[in-house]
Amino acid sequence: LHHAKAAGRDTHRFFAEAMNAEAVAHLSTRSGLRRALERGEFLVHYQPQVSLETGAVVGAEALVRWNHPDEGMIPPGAFIPIAEDSGLIVPIGAWVLAEACRQAAAWQARGLPLSVAVNLSALQLQRADLVRTVTGALADSGLDPLLLELELTESMLIQNTELVMDNLRRIKAMGVQVSIDDFGTGYSNLSYIGRLAVDKLKIDRSFVADLTGSHDSARITTAVIQMAHGLNLNVVAEGVEDAETLEALRRMGCDVAQGYFLGRPGPAEAVERAARQASPFKVGA
Ligand code: C2E
Ligand code: MG
Ligand code: MG
Ligand code: MG
Repeated sequence: LHHAKAAGRDTHRFFAEAMNAEAVAHLSTRSGLRRALERGEFLVHYQPQVSLETGAVVGAEALVRWNHPDEGMIPPGAFIPIAEDSGLIVPIGAWVLAEACRQAAAWQARGLPLSVAVNLSALQLQRADLVRTVTGALADSGLDPLLLELELTESMLIQNTELVMDNLRRIKAMGVQVSIDDFGTGYSNLSYIGRLAVDKLKIDRSFVADLTGSHDSARITTAVIQMAHGLNLNVVAEGVEDAETLEALRRMGCDVAQGYFLGRPGPAEAVERAARQASPFKVGA
């Protein structure tokens, strides 16, 4: 089994030790983030998603980072909340979307039809120009809409305003996939699943993390997978950190897995290298 060797290269792991929260708060002001966007200091890392049926890399999640000239790699948790409060998540999110589409189109052009999953913020979903932004990113990159996936969270669907519903309907109509991120941690009213024609559930890392150690987590995960399949949805497990968990998920019938065991978020080239191998992760062998 090929264990991801990228662990040591993940600079952002050391972030918590290396940098104090005050410094980030100071940098992550509206003007600081705007300057970062103008100066091209944001970058996108990609984390592979692996089929539990074949062991092949089938896609990647796009995760934004701020490569600060003095402070180094700043993880999204340190600046996304501030970007959301200040509204700057809208241009930052649009940039991530365009960049991720461009990358996936490049993979597609080189014979690797990998899907790319992009996280959306509530503010983006509530905007009248979201459809235009998505259409633009697809048109500029030439990416097949079927290879783009947008990740929403349950809490974003509480405000099921006409605008949000309309945005999602129009995005779905283009062929873009929609998934529910961190599933199981938020709003537990499941009515949106049918109403919105969601394609995929991503089981939150908190359940996956102690799947092999907790009967409750194992039962919840099994139930979520069965429910999802009953509704014709695919299931992605987040936060797979060891072989045992991977095997348990495979036995449970989970479709796709993502996590440090399969590859940390990193440069696009690392995903491409893994995807070039027919079956980089032997599952169920
Ligand atoms: P998320 O969308 O749930 O992304 C998964 C997070 O879990 C990522 O953290 C990823 O590095 C981490 N992760 C993946 N596998 C494992 C594992 O095996 N173990 C552990 N402990 N963690 C794992 P990251 O990159 O720090 O992103 C954190 C959150 O920031 C994301 O959670 C997402 O909510 C948000 N985010 C990232 N990029 C964007 C973006 O472009 N736009 C928006 N709106 N939010 C973003
Ligand atoms: Mg996500
Ligand atoms: Mg998640
Ligand atoms: Mg999350």
